[in-house]
Amino acid sequence: MEKYYTADAIIIKGINYGEGHRIFTFYGKDQGKFSAVARGVKKSKSKLNGHLQLGNRCDLQLIHGKSLDTVSQAVAKETYPHLRETASLYFYASYFMELLNDFAAERVPDAALFQLFDTVLKGLADEDPAKLTRFFELKLLALSGYQPNFHCCAACGQEIKAGFLNPRFSGIVCSKCGGGYEITPKTLFALNYLTSSEARLVSRLKTDAVTDQLMGKVTKMLIENSLEKKVKSLEILNRDQV
Ligand SMILES: [Zn+2]
Repeated sequence: MEKYYTADAIIIKGINYGEGHRIFTFYGKDQGKFSAVARGVKKSKSKLNGHLQLGNRCDLQLIHGKSLDTVSQAVAKETYPHLRETASLYFYASYFMELLNDFAAERVPDAALFQLFDTVLKGLADEDPAKLTRFFELKLLALSGYQPNFHCCAACGQEIKAGFLNPRFSGIVCSKCGGGYEITPKTLFALNYLTSSEARLVSRLKTDAVTDQLMGKVTKMLIENSLEKKVKSLEILNRDQV
């Protein structure tokens, strides 16, 4: 095995480790999710510190280790500056990072997912962040093997105009199949729009507050069903919005 390798990767998590070190979790274009330690990065002389900031996209050089690889060089090539300038956007980005970390398997490359992640981080500069969040959630579910479909009942397949959210099913169901929390036709329309949209078009979708809230309920349940656990920062975001 080569001692060194390079990666084009976005930093999605960082935890302090020992004296002055940090262990980062990266999402690499060619690697998928992986972790590596940056030794001494918290010391004032470290050249890496300015580059290794959460959310930065970096060109990395790494050294294979027995249990953990080491970052030997890092140059940030995209810092998504809008995320540092606006605190609320940084919260959205933090949620994106946490969600990606939860969904991604270790060392399973997925170029489409890398591209999606880069696109939504950039998109926060211009697009409605709440809609971009729903867009990211739906695309992430789709890339993870769960293809959201809001045209048909998730149980019987019958076409629906309105439907119900029911935790027993991974999707919206008709009244005959489940019942539960009612999801309006406007909400299903909006979810279908985002499912087939591109990031640069999400703000063209005009919605009212009820629809926004219901969309959030739907994606939250689908994600929780998918991950079978709650995502901490999603709760923080939702709490702040209400
Ligand atoms: Zn049904």
